[in-house]
Amino acid sequence: MLSVNDAEAIILNLVQPLDAQRDIEVVDLLTANNRILATPVTSLLDFPHWDNSAMDGYAVRYEDVQHASAEPVILEIIEEITAGYQPKSTVQPGQAARIFTGAVIPAGADTIVIQEKTRREENRVFILAAPQPQEFIRHKASFYQAGTSLLPAGIRLNAAELAVLAMAQCPQLNVYRRPRVAIFSTGNELVTPDQPLQPGQIVDSNQYALAALVKESGAEPILLGIIKDEPDALQEAIASAIAKADIVISSGGVSVGDYDYIDQILESLGAKIHIRTVGMKPGKPLTVATFPTQHSSTEAINGVCNPHFALYFGLPGNPAAVLVAFWRFVQSAIKKFSGVTEGWKPIFVKVRSHNELRADGKRETYLWGKLHLIDGIYEFHKAGGSHSSGNLINLAQTNALAILPIGQTLISPGEEVEILQVSN
Ligand code: AMP
Ligand code: MG
Repeated sequence: MLSVNDAEAIILNLVQPLDAQRDIEVVDLLTANNRILATPVTSLLDFPHWDNSAMDGYAVRYEDVQHASAEPVILEIIEEITAGYQPKSTVQPGQAARIFTGAVIPAGADTIVIQEKTRREENRVFILAAPQPQEFIRHKASFYQAGTSLLPAGIRLNAAELAVLAMAQCPQLNVYRRPRVAIFSTGNELVTPDQPLQPGQIVDSNQYALAALVKESGAEPILLGIIKDEPDALQEAIASAIAKADIVISSGGVSVGDYDYIDQILESLGAKIHIRTVGMKPGKPLTVATFPTQHSSTEAINGVCNPHFALYFGLPGNPAAVLVAFWRFVQSAIKKFSGVTEGWKPIFVKVRSHNELRADGKRETYLWGKLHLIDGIYEFHKAGGSHSSGNLINLAQTNALAILPIGQTLISPGEEVEILQVSN
């Protein structure tokens, strides 16, 4: 059976990211949080724009004050320079300018003496200790030189990046459009949460989990509802999903039961199936397929599109398997597709396990739980209750999955375990 790592490699290889020319939109700085920058940004300004003071104090000529000590140097104050004020005078020998943090260094001065090392008497300042040459001067262009690369394309924009863009006076930006991800659930037994349950029916919870996960991954979910286990209905749903979306996620119908039609319909629609099962638990049945180019229909429906790419994930129906498969495979595929150049792969870390963890050793096993901070060190606490793939209840509040590789059947309390952090 295909290993989890091999499956991940196949999936990520299939993903061709959005196009930096075609798949972009312009957004305002205020709505750009979490979007992916599509065009590199360069500024025509230096940062800092001019030499300025890092402290409140006095702008002086170093040669005047280099010997200041118990015997203070006395300077004449010629000007007061606040932030935002353009100095008028040149500091001559024997002179100083009162200056505040961020204010422009006046001509003639080359060093700041902080006010704590001075005493003032009317228009004279006593320098009580010698500074270092050029002390507390932030030099023009020492943080960034005009015309060099300020922010590269392919980064996620968050607080720090948005502040940099504001500083560089970029009120509008080119970002990648959000990936469109169609979601539907399959099963004759499924009803929506607002419908009364008849005997044998179950509520379609997967659609809600997937919609939230897709949004969290920075994509736009397109919800196609519940589709019956009927070949014609499924065929129509898949064809319409492919036409509307870049990525399609269905749940259910990929196992070996008599009503599991997804794979055969994908093939009849011309898809190439790359994966049918993966050696993991939960989540063994997993269909991954690609569709040939969908030029005209996609363009007609969406206006903008990426006609070279349509990736299909047929997840198993079991609710726990859906979440685990999404966190392990689908999330990184969506992120890679979204244009972000780094940080789309899942992050694995080693932590101490609080509980005994058991697996059958035959498939890579994922157990859900929570990371707790114990004396500053993260510890994995396995969720209580059943770790059956059909049990959704104890997945609530999961923020990590513990991974037991093939061949490992036991991790004792206090031992290290590899975990995948999934959300906060
Ligand atoms: P399947 O893979 O279609 O055989 O489904 C496996 C199990 O998952 C069955 O018990 C289904 O009832 C359940 N299931 C399938 N789809 C959903 C869904 N959308 N929401 C909740 N449970 C589901
Ligand atoms: Mg089913």
